[in-house]
Amino acid sequence: MSDFIILNERKIIPLYDPPHLIKGIRNNLLTKNLEVNYKSIKQGENREIASWDIIERAYKIDTTDTFNRLMPKITEEHIIKRKIKKMRVKHAVQTLSRSMSVFINHHTKIEGYINTANGPLSMPKKEGKDTAGAILFFNHLFDSVNGHSLKSKEAPLRIAITDKTKHIDFWEKAIKQLEEMRFVDKTTGKPLYNSPTIRNWIQTIRGFQQLWCTLKERGFKTLRPRNINQDPLENFFGQIRTFGRANRNPTCAQFGTYYKALLITNLTTKSSNKTNCEENFNGELLVSLKSIFESNETAQEKQICQSAVNLDLKEYIDEMKNEISPIKKHTLNIILKQILDYEAIKDCDACKTLLTRDGTRASRNIITTFQRTQSVLNEYFKDFHYERNLRILLKTVCFIEVELVWIDCTLHGSQIKDVFVEKIVQQYFDYSCEKVNKILQGKEQYVGRNELMCNAKSKYLRTLKNKRL
Ligand SMILES: [Zn+2]
Repeated sequence: MSDFIILNERKIIPLYDPPHLIKGIRNNLLTKNLEVNYKSIKQGENREIASWDIIERAYKIDTTDTFNRLMPKITEEHIIKRKIKKMRVKHAVQTLSRSMSVFINHHTKIEGYINTANGPLSMPKKEGKDTAGAILFFNHLFDSVNGHSLKSKEAPLRIAITDKTKHIDFWEKAIKQLEEMRFVDKTTGKPLYNSPTIRNWIQTIRGFQQLWCTLKERGFKTLRPRNINQDPLENFFGQIRTFGRANRNPTCAQFGTYYKALLITNLTTKSSNKTNCEENFNGELLVSLKSIFESNETAQEKQICQSAVNLDLKEYIDEMKNEISPIKKHTLNIILKQILDYEAIKDCDACKTLLTRDGTRASRNIITTFQRTQSVLNEYFKDFHYERNLRILLKTVCFIEVELVWIDCTLHGSQIKDVFVEKIVQQYFDYSCEKVNKILQGKEQYVGRNELMCNAKSKYLRTLKNKRL
């Protein structure tokens, strides 16, 4: 089995996600026993078996004294099979931990029974020691592929890999140990069909060896393995699913849009902790915000040509009288004109058919979309108005919440969508800022329920009161 693939002269090193691998070990242990060192067992010796029963027993012993527990982090949700939250990586890591191993090991040395809330219990000597050993091994193994900082007092393997760390030696031994592990039937002790989890651990450790060698050749001095695990990616997919509430099965284009939205919201809000992953989302985003948002924006702005086509929009304004308020009507008027003035689409019949009726009046579609966009902006503006990058955020939200597929000119579709949304948000933004300023200065009385406006109003009233005093 090779540790890497060569594709188009590039070396690809496949790795499984360590948090998933550690969960895999825990999940297997719930229904099977793990046999250790099975190849080197000598005749007459007892097999080394690690089992979940031992872990459960350790938990029962520890919870007898609820005020003075040795493993306070371990709860029923870590241990009791039907209560285990299988998605939580953290629970698997905390259970297969050094402190669990030490606790079990210690109790194998205690003679007789311990009186517990669950009756008198003792820790079986042989099975306890074997289980403690296996737990400690997986604790080290996970540490060795989960380090991030350069130093750690309590966990010498949970650090970034350098030439001086113990990773290389440990991995050599770890592969040998993994090769001597197998899951066996809990009652009969018969070996079960080779579990992929152990095989995948071996391949992943080999991959890390290979990766470190490759990086070293290219002059790298450290490797922080946690940067490779899938947690941030999973957080991200989880958020995509939550974020795209209008569409749980996004197309590639929508996915891109959600991604942009998440990049922004992640900068200002903490990620949900109900997800599969440990809280290590440090805001290390895969692509810099700047590169995404600054790409074509200025170029497009320039391209909006102010000259050309002088459109008579009177007619459609008349028609829309009963549909939208004057200020919005005015806004759509401006936006539509700007789009139609756009140098590239001036002569495109497809675009004109989409946006107008008879080349002059606004089409039904653009009116509906415009109204929808306005209400989306109203909805989000009140929630987000304290956020940084508000304008970009609002723009992104429009892409997500507003149906724009009808703008399907193959040549100009995406440009028009972009300009359309950009312009509406810009207008909305300018309008809101202007209004807030007017209210703050007392130049305008506000009677509505918009939170931002209301805040501005009460601030104005406070200053007014202070002046009078
Ligand atoms: Zn077109």
